[in-house]
Amino acid sequence: ATPTALMVGTGRGAQLGILIKGPEVLESTRRVDTVVLDKTGTVTTGRMTLHEVYAGEGTDEEEVLRLAGAVEHASEHPVARAVAAGAEERVGTLPGVEDFGNVPGRGVRGRVEGREVVVGRLHDDLPPGVARARDEAERGGRTAVVVGWDGAARGVVAVADTVRETSAEAVTELRRLGLTPVLLTGDNRRVAESVARAVGIDEVIAEVLPEEKVAVVERLRREGRAVAMVGDGVNDAAALATADLGLAMGTGTDAAIEAGDLTLVRGDLRVAADAIRLSRRTLSTIK
Ligand code: ADP
Ligand code: MG
Repeated sequence: ATPTALMVGTGRGAQLGILIKGPEVLESTRRVDTVVLDKTGTVTTGRMTLHEVYAGEGTDEEEVLRLAGAVEHASEHPVARAVAAGAEERVGTLPGVEDFGNVPGRGVRGRVEGREVVVGRLHDDLPPGVARARDEAERGGRTAVVVGWDGAARGVVAVADTVRETSAEAVTELRRLGLTPVLLTGDNRRVAESVARAVGIDEVIAEVLPEEKVAVVERLRREGRAVAMVGDGVNDAAALATADLGLAMGTGTDAAIEAGDLTLVRGDLRVAADAIRLSRRTLSTIK
């Protein structure tokens, strides 16, 4: 590979909206045969909104929203932002939270109005009504978050975001380049499968904890696959660094952008296919 041709590739990349860390990055895309796509914020917009609210016995929707919203207010997670914003809109100013704690890929906890509130996928035993509300929301393709306090699960709030308009076309283009797409997410399997169906992905790896994403990429590589990973979140950073080629969404977190080899500036997944096509073309002119 002559440095000049690689520099030309880099310049063309910038025109397409691809920031390349260094010319040598183009080399690693040559063998790539699998593209792992993070779900939230990558295949979907990551801008979630609040949908239904369920309140079990002894409480009401207003209380579930107020307590959940208060704790989520302290978190930056897309799910948390949707719950906090939706709660504020529906019930007004939220109370403060003390002793806030974040459990990555699972949820949050904190003390609100003297109650120990837990929000997310952190409850073991769900009363039948809560379990039913959660299952129903998930069957509808939404992310269900269980809300509990003082040791019991008491309600559910469901959030959802939308698949990016360009994602289905991007998957088609990636396939055309001979790549196998895989959807990887910490979210529940039913939501993941409904998103996968919408964009034409057959292989789904769901309910993966943030620290396990890197292990999934490592496993695929051990199986002999050359892996490109596209992600946006703090929880994608290690996987982006481990993949043969890491592509960060320009709309994502700084951690992802720092870990990636390439940045898709506009957050348009179709540009991932452009990036791979460009580097293959650049390398073949060099040969
Ligand atoms: P993804 O891999 O799709 O980017 P994450 O690994 O960040 O998702 O989160 C996985 C799941 O953990 C979420 O879908 C949600 O169910 C739960 N979760 C994570 N953070 C929170 C939070 N702050 N509040 C409620 N639930 C959360
Ligand atoms: Mg994400």
